[in-house]
Amino acid sequence: MTLPHTGRALADAAPVPYWLDRPERPDPLPPLTGPQHADLLVIGGGYSGLWAALLAKQADPDRDVLLVDVGTCGWAASGRNGGFCAASLTHGLANGVDRFPDEVGELDRLGRENLDAIATTVAEFGIDCDFERTGELAVAVAPYQLDGLAADAELARRYGHRVRLLDRDEVRAEVNSPTYLGGMFDADRVAMVDPARLAWGLRRACLDLGVRVHEHTRVTGLRADSAALRAATAGGPDDAPGSVRARRVVLATNAFPPLLRRLRAYLVPVYDHVLMTEPLTPAQRDAIGWRNRQGLADTGNQFHYYRITADGRILFGGYDAVYHYGNRVAPELEQRHATFTTLARHFFTTFPQLADVRFSHSWGGVIDTCTRFCPFFGTAYGGRLAYAAGYTGLGVGATRFGARVLLDLLDGGNTPLTRLDLVRRKPLPFPPEPVRAIGINLTRWSLARADAREGRRDLWLRTLDRLGLGFDS
Ligand SMILES: Cc1cc2nc3c(=O)[nH]c(=O)nc-3n(C[C@H](O)[C@H](O)[C@H](O)COP(=O)(O)OP(=O)(O)OC[C@H]3O[C@@H](n4cnc5c(N)ncnc54)[C@H](O)[C@@H]3O)c2cc1C
Repeated sequence: MTLPHTGRALADAAPVPYWLDRPERPDPLPPLTGPQHADLLVIGGGYSGLWAALLAKQADPDRDVLLVDVGTCGWAASGRNGGFCAASLTHGLANGVDRFPDEVGELDRLGRENLDAIATTVAEFGIDCDFERTGELAVAVAPYQLDGLAADAELARRYGHRVRLLDRDEVRAEVNSPTYLGGMFDADRVAMVDPARLAWGLRRACLDLGVRVHEHTRVTGLRADSAALRAATAGGPDDAPGSVRARRVVLATNAFPPLLRRLRAYLVPVYDHVLMTEPLTPAQRDAIGWRNRQGLADTGNQFHYYRITADGRILFGGYDAVYHYGNRVAPELEQRHATFTTLARHFFTTFPQLADVRFSHSWGGVIDTCTRFCPFFGTAYGGRLAYAAGYTGLGVGATRFGARVLLDLLDGGNTPLTRLDLVRRKPLPFPPEPVRAIGINLTRWSLARADAREGRRDLWLRTLDRLGLGFDS
């Protein structure tokens, strides 16, 4: 069903990420030219690469660190996400318990420490990114989801999380939607952040510490010589060639076509889409009673996440997760009318009080999905290159932890982080095409069907569950 006002509400939405469409966006830095040398080359200027560069410089100010990005720092997932900065390193506690039962307590502790360290860095460098520890409210919108919330709360309490279950009236007193049947509030393990400003602030901090940053510079290939790695680059409007010879390399290219062939088996780029409303008027805000600025997410298999921005807009994203055959990533895939219409319809079902609200922006971005839904790590070229990927839509916080792991791996150290199962073990690979696309699309279809059938998982999902490949948000 298309609500009559859905088309009107979307009519003027700018097809760009709201977060990146603001005057404070920094001017691009010049592309790399000629041959260069560095102790550490970081490829990719999203959170992963920026944290790696920053932490490397903090650990050793004399280390010569050079970072390149094919676009500008933060233009990709890092500057266009929902801004839920979570402590979890394992895409939720339940996924962590399933996959790393022996060390999930330690991962939980490290995740909490990581979130605190992000807060400290934001304060220390004066990063103006509206970092607010307002927590996350998970809501049940179908009766069967109430049992799931109760189970999640019990598990969370076992690990010492201070969560609170809310009944129908309590949850609607927090945020008033006629769809809400109950909720679980996690007060202190999720912060809300302005994602692009976090990326831009990390870039500024890197520059202040002396990291050399070149934007609009693509690494086109890597090869080893006797003592170092050589990265070939193409930069600027003319694709001018350049090169960097570096002792160590961090590969932080997320869901983009990887420079290491072996990574292709482990990653699929999945498009996630988002709508942003115009700023709500005080009367509209009163109508939904959303006063506490916490992040929200519903708890279906196909779920929505939403939050309020500093200037009082609602960001509403998620639900569809779209895979394009052959791991395709392309700018034209960021706009998807059918998904925006679905999201708008769900928005108005969630908040019928906001029937006259319009959307100012609509966009999509690519998520680095792996079969275990949380990051994996590795090295190549005899330990001179380290990579991290597979954050599967929960990388705003976890990428800082991932960057610490990368630096430990490059130091060749046997450290508490490199000894983790999470770091040593790889996820199962995806099959090659066409089985890959068939499997992913069948999974999507089955998840939608489970949501429509009170959570009942079909034979395909139960088989994936048995193989340790199932996902239950
Ligand atoms: C719509 C959307 C919503 C999301 N919401 C959330 C959320 O609320 N909470 C959460 O925790 N996570 C969320 N995520 C996921 C989160 O944004 C990512 O996990 C995180 O930003 C990954 O950071 P990254 O640095 O690894 O990747 P990216 O930010 O994608 O950075 C990778 C960089 O590598 C560069 N690059 C690629 N190839 C090359 C090359 N050959 N040469 C040079 N540079 C190259 C790219 O230009 C890019 O800038 C969301 C993602 C999307 C798309």
